[in-house]
Amino acid sequence: MRPFEYVRAADPAQAVATVTADPAAAYLAGGTTQLDLILKDGIISPERLVDVTRLPLKGITVGDTSIRVGATTTMEELAADPTVAERLPFVREALLAGASVQLRNMATIGGNLLQRTRCRYYRDPTVAACNKRQPGTGCAAVAGPARMHAILGASEHCIALHASDLAVALVALDTVVHLQGTTGTRAVPLTEFYLEPGDTPNVETVLQHGELITQIDIPFLPEGARSTYLKVRDRASYEFALTSAAVAVVLEDGAIREGRVGLGGVGTVPWRAWAAEEVLRGAPANDQTFRAAAEAAVQNPFIVAGTAFKVELAKRTLVRALHTVTG
Ligand SMILES: Cc1cc2nc3c(=O)[nH]c(=O)nc-3n(C[C@H](O)[C@H](O)[C@H](O)COP(=O)(O)OP(=O)(O)OC[C@H]3O[C@@H](n4cnc5c(N)ncnc54)[C@H](O)[C@@H]3O)c2cc1C
Ligand code: SF4
Repeated sequence: MRPFEYVRAADPAQAVATVTADPAAAYLAGGTTQLDLILKDGIISPERLVDVTRLPLKGITVGDTSIRVGATTTMEELAADPTVAERLPFVREALLAGASVQLRNMATIGGNLLQRTRCRYYRDPTVAACNKRQPGTGCAAVAGPARMHAILGASEHCIALHASDLAVALVALDTVVHLQGTTGTRAVPLTEFYLEPGDTPNVETVLQHGELITQIDIPFLPEGARSTYLKVRDRASYEFALTSAAVAVVLEDGAIREGRVGLGGVGTVPWRAWAAEEVLRGAPANDQTFRAAAEAAVQNPFIVAGTAFKVELAKRTLVRALHTVTG
């Protein structure tokens, strides 16, 4: 085990200043990702961990058109919130489909959005070729075997999946992430927060070193919307998605007035299926429309032998989710 210093900041400004000033410092929230990578896998070795869990960043505030969630609110707290159950049911479903109740009681919303990939090569320090861990070394997953990997937004340099369930629903909702840095605050739409790997897989988000997620704003679904989160996985609980779909629709006279689609288990980033939403807008709510939306959603996949099955599985997952919300 590598030693590290544990620090509790007095307030967000001090936390930001401490991490920003020290390239070897990092934030610690619930620790369910961070401590695995440091203590169990030995993949990262920050010299200083700044605990954010006692900062005044916990809590849920309900507004007229959106809900504001503090970054240190736990997954379980958000899932138990009555407004989320009523106005954002598929967010609740996505939360409860993730990890286990013990983990969800520790894991925070900020940490969930920033969880690291489950790529087995990334988490195995004996594997030399990993551009995300060590830029320029290559990608062991592309040579395979690979299975729990991405087919959308991937490149020859990295096919690592973003494994969050929550982020799939949030990305479909135009969620906004609020950040605090040493020079001020900024708000970034979640659809612009994550970066596809390209030839720099080690850069995963627009976050600057030391920037802190303080809260997120989740807009409510339109009145009358129906939503669902469908997660397909190898076993019924405590398992990451092979594929998933977060879908919300507003129906009018048998047609889809508006549809939102997020896909999980397939993207290097939580995937907003804009092209599928285009197909759905104004179209009759029938199997033909759903299949056309699924074809539009999964375009130009980057596949390796072990991930080829995901192309059809992702389409069927979306079709089934659409049947569920329109049925
Ligand atoms: C066995 C297991 C199964 C799991 N299954 C699922 C699953 O099915 N679905 C799913 O979605 N997730 C799953 N997870 C992932 C889990 O949800 C994440 O580990 C968790 O949400 C991370 O939150 P945390 O508070 O523990 O973050 P930490 O581990 O403390 O931190 C994670 C990262 O976020 C950074 N960070 C944390 N908070 C902030 C902040 N406010 N601002 C800036 N940076 C911050 C940290 O520096 C670190 O890089 C699983 C995890 C495990 C261990
Ligand atoms: S897929 Fe990405 S994280 Fe996995 S081995 Fe390749 S470069 Fe590393």
